[in-house]
Order: sequence, then structure tokens, then C-alpha cells
Amino acid sequence: MAIADQINPISPMGLTLDAYQALCAREGVGPGRAKTAYQAIYRDGKTASPPAKITLPTIVTRHEEAVNEGTTIKFVQRLPNPDHRLANRGIDFDDIESVIIPMIGRSGRKTHTLCVSSQVGCALGCTFCETAQMGLIRSLSAAEIVAQWWAARFIENIKIDNIVFMGMGEPMDNLDQVLKAIACLTDRNGPALPMSGITISTVGRVDGLERIKEQVQKPGWKRLGLALSLNASNDEVRSRLMPINKKWNMQALQTMLLELRQVRGWRKIMIEYVLIPGVNSEDTHADELAEWMSPFLKDPTRKKGKGHGGLLNVIPYNPRRDSPWDAPSDELIDRFVNRLMRHGVFVNCRRTKGRDSMAACGQLGTAEIRKRKLISLTTQGRTDQEANAQ
Ligand code: SAH
Repeated sequence: MAIADQINPISPMGLTLDAYQALCAREGVGPGRAKTAYQAIYRDGKTASPPAKITLPTIVTRHEEAVNEGTTIKFVQRLPNPDHRLANRGIDFDDIESVIIPMIGRSGRKTHTLCVSSQVGCALGCTFCETAQMGLIRSLSAAEIVAQWWAARFIENIKIDNIVFMGMGEPMDNLDQVLKAIACLTDRNGPALPMSGITISTVGRVDGLERIKEQVQKPGWKRLGLALSLNASNDEVRSRLMPINKKWNMQALQTMLLELRQVRGWRKIMIEYVLIPGVNSEDTHADELAEWMSPFLKDPTRKKGKGHGGLLNVIPYNPRRDSPWDAPSDELIDRFVNRLMRHGVFVNCRRTKGRDSMAACGQLGTAEIRKRKLISLTTQGRTDQEANAQ
């Protein structure tokens, strides 16, 4: 019997083929055999192919909702909570949510975007966001992030074209594991997603953006997408909505984005703006926002007729549970968007897909898991320690 048949199974979840082969080599399994096993898991959807074996979290809830483009599917995976301290308090599992969103592209082709979570809960406390209400429980490992793709691809049986880190959590608070997951997701022998199909969405931690600046200069990473959740047109409003703004304000963000643009061209960076009636939706806010975006509207490096100077994505607010604010009316959205366009800002409006299912932006966090508010609002420390320990 070959040695490889006697060894314990080795999971490739969250690993690149190179990393998997290195792990296998330590157990005496050759690179060829490791590659075949790796491909069986990621290409053929097998859960076992010696020495590879994966264990998947159970899907505890699944919700489908018909939308114009097809069907939005939200699924909740139940992960073990490895923290015994929490287990003593009756918390011995973690639920995370992922959403598969159908889209029709400009060419009419139907694509599917998977919205993944990077943490259980979130530490950042944005006042309009459902996930923030539960606080941070823990960060996910790269394997747990990639397992969301695996479930979408092989349990839901849907080919995923794009992945956005817009589910639960702040990717910049768990950047090591998020980057590791992306390396796996884009591995040609594995999930093989194009780098251009992946977008990290962030509240705008400037230290994290510095790291992204380094990362996108590495081979293969140039086309990674970035979305910045700006959500306000001035510091007073932004600090009220997003406490992180007290640490890195709008000026700091603008400077950082201009720097990033030097490296890699503006087209892969998108600004997100959750439109909340009575909070950030006045004409004056649109004017201020256009002013803040003005340095990005002129791009001397851009070829004539190619792309656009700056891209703003307006997201109509989905009222979270117990929200003091309503959803914006269509008239309000149109008025805000038109005013920005008159200033020359290229605006895209992402209408809600899945409002009823709580699968919409910022709605991730069930009543059940929300009760478990545990960890205070910090941005580093614990999160990174946990991530490194994985
Ligand atoms: N922490 C990351 C990713 C998760 S939130 C970030 O902040 O970008 C993903 C997007 O959903 C962000 O743009 C966020 O501003 C938006 N969002 C959060 N709550 C929302 C809500 N209630 N309605 C609409 N969009 C919301």
C-alpha cells in the first residue's frame, strides 16, 4: 500500500495549490498526487479524494427570493466556535451568511455574484448597518471564506463569476486571511476566478489600503477590485454614521485613494454611498460629494473614450432592524443621482435585490446571532491574533 493511503486526510480548503503541495510533501505525498486531489475538490466538487478531504459547515438556513434577474439565494453556514471562553457562555457555534446575486451584464449575459462574509459580526459599529448591531464575534479563516464559495458552487450548483467581500465583517480587520482566501479563489488549478472578478469592500482603513497598495503591485494582483464605503459627503455626517472616520477622515481617504490611483489606474476603485433620507441625501450633500470626488474625475492616464473618470455607486438604504430612518423614495434617489451626474460624476445606482429576505446590503446578521453582542469596538488586536492563530 502506498504511504499516501495511510496518512490522515489533508484539507486543501483556503490553500493555493503550491501551499497544498508543500503540506502534502511533509507527509510524503508527491506533487502530482497532491495536484490531482486538489483539482478533484475544487474542479469536480468532490469532498474526498485522498489525501484531500474537506469538511463543510452545515447550511442551517436557506432563503430564495425571485428578483428581476433571476433568484437571489441567501444561505447561512454554521461554523464551530473554537473559543472555549465563549462556549462556557452557551455560545458554541457561529453563523455566517452568504448571498448569491444574479445580474444581467451590459451584453445581456447573466452572471452570478457571490457576496461573502469575512467575519462573524463586525467591530466597526456603523450606525446604519445590521451586522454592526451584533458586534464582533470572531474573524474567519481563509478556509472558512473559501468554503462559502465551495457551497455556492457545488451545493447550490451555481457557477460564480464574481465575489464581493460585502457580507458580514470588515475585510481590512482580517486582511491576512482575506488575501489568503483570494489567492486560493484565483488559483488556476482551484476555483480559478479571475482576479478582476474579486472586490474587497472596506470602510476605509488607511493602513489596510496601504497594504492593498503593496499587494496590487505583486504579479497577478493588479486587477483586484476595491470598493470604498464613503457614505457621507462631510466629516460631521461620516463620523456620525461611521466611527472609523474619527481615525481616518475624508481628507485622509482622498489622499490615500489618489496615491492608489497612481499605482494602478482608477477603474478598479469604486466609491459606495448608502443613501439615507434626511441624513446624507440633500442637494448640498450631492454638491459636497461631487467636490470631494472632483480630483478623481480627471484622469490624465486614461485613454480617450475608455472607462470613466470616477465611479460612484449609490445604494438605497435598507432599513436595518429598529431603524430610525426609512428607505429613500425613488424620487429622492433620482434627484440625488441626477444632481451628481450634472456635476460630471459617473453614478451607478444599485437597486436592492432581496430586501424581503434580509439578504440585502447591510442586512446580514440574524435576530438569533444578533443577541450575542460580545466584543467592544476595536479594530486590531484580538482580530489579528485570532487570524494568525488559524
Ligand atoms: N465592511 C465592509 C463590507 C461590508 S458592508 C464595508 O463597509 O464596505 C457592504 C456595503 O453595504 C457597504 O458599502 C455598506 O456601506 C453597505 N451597507 C451597510 N448597511 C447597509 C444598509 N442598511 N443599507 C444599504 N447598504 C448598507
